[in-house]
Amino acid sequence: MGRVYNFAAGPAMLPLEVLEEAQRDLVDYKGTGMSVMEMSHRGKVFDGIIKQAEADFRTLVGVPDNYYVLFLQGGGSQQFAEVPLNLMKNKKAGYVITGNWAKKAWQEAQKYGDAVALASSADKNFTYIPDCSDLPITEDMDYVYICENNTIYGTEYFKLPNTKGKDLVADVSSNFLSRPIDVTKYGMFFGGVQKNVGPAGCVIAVIRKDLVRTDLPEEVPTMLRYSTQAEKDSLYNTPPCWQIYICGLVFKWLLKMGGLTEMNRRNEAKAKVFYDALDASSLFKGTVRKEDRSLMNAPFVTGDKDLDAEFVKEAAEQGLVSLKGHRTVGGMRASMYNAMPIEGVEKLAAFMREFEAKHPVLD
Ligand SMILES: *Cc1c(COP(=O)(O)O)cnc(C)c1O
Repeated sequence: MGRVYNFAAGPAMLPLEVLEEAQRDLVDYKGTGMSVMEMSHRGKVFDGIIKQAEADFRTLVGVPDNYYVLFLQGGGSQQFAEVPLNLMKNKKAGYVITGNWAKKAWQEAQKYGDAVALASSADKNFTYIPDCSDLPITEDMDYVYICENNTIYGTEYFKLPNTKGKDLVADVSSNFLSRPIDVTKYGMFFGGVQKNVGPAGCVIAVIRKDLVRTDLPEEVPTMLRYSTQAEKDSLYNTPPCWQIYICGLVFKWLLKMGGLTEMNRRNEAKAKVFYDALDASSLFKGTVRKEDRSLMNAPFVTGDKDLDAEFVKEAAEQGLVSLKGHRTVGGMRASMYNAMPIEGVEKLAAFMREFEAKHPVLD
C-alpha cells in the first residue's frame, strides 16, 4: 500500500513534501556528513536550524518582539502543570471546561491554587462552546484558561472569551497554525506539535515577556520554569532537535503556500466538503452544535455501533484510515489537519455517500 489518507487525531499526517525533504537530507544533512539526529545541539549547524525555525515561526504567526517563542518538551500535558506553576501569582485562575483536555488542565491547576470553573459544557457532553461573553471572572484571578480546539469532542472557539482584562492562556495543540491569530490577544498559548505541526516530542509555547517570572518559589523545578528556557533560547538542556528541525520544514511549507491565511482558506474548504456531506446524509449525524464545529476534528455517528465499526473497517480498505472515534464519543472522528489534502476529504465524503447507498435509512 502507498500513502493513505490518515484521519488520526495525533500523531497525524505531515506534508509529503516535508517528509521527502527530510528523507533526502536524512543521512547527510546538507553536506555535514551526519543526520540532524546525530549532531550536537551546541554546534553551528543546529544553531542555524533552531534560529531559522524560530524566525520563520515568528513571521508565520506574527509574533511581536515582546513575546518569547519557546521549544519545550513534556507534551501538552506538562503545560497543564507548568502554566499554574509559573502564572498563578495570586494562586487563583479561571478555567473554561469544554472537554477532556480543558478538564485535565483544570484538575492539574487545582494542585497549585484555586482553579475556578468559569463555565462548562459538560451538561451536554461537551457538544458546544459555552457563552464566554460575561464569565464570572474576579479581580484576583491571574489568568483565564481555554482549550481553543477540543480534539475529542470536535468543538472550536471562533471568538475568544471576554477575559475582562485578565491574560488569556490557550491550549492550541489541535488547531495550531490552522488559521491566522492575533497574538496580542493572548498572554500565552502553547501546543504540542504532534497534532498539526510536526513529530511528537516538542511543545511550542508563546508567552508575553512580562509574564515570565524570575521570582518563583524555590521549589519550582528548574526545568518547569519558563524563565529557564527563555534565558537560554530554548537551549538550557538538549532540546528535541529532530522535532524542531521538522517543525522548521513545516513552517517553510506554510510560508511557501501563502501563510496562515491560505492555510485557513484550505482548511475551511476541506471542512465544507465534509460538513456538507454530513448535513446531506440521513445516515450519518454530527455530534456538535453547528456553529461550534471544529475545522480540525469532526466526530460523527450512525447511531448503530455495528454499522459504525463496519464503516471504519471498509473505509480503511479504501485507504481512509484512523477514522474510529474517541471512546468517550464513540462512532467516527475525521481529523482534517493542515497536512490532509482536500482530495482525502473528498474521497471520504464520496465513500460516505457510497456507504449510505448500501445501508439506506428506512423510515
Ligand atoms: C493531544 C492534546 C493534548 C495532550 O498532548 P500530549 O502532548 O499528549 O501531552 C493536550 N491538549 C490538546 C488540545 C490535545 O489535543
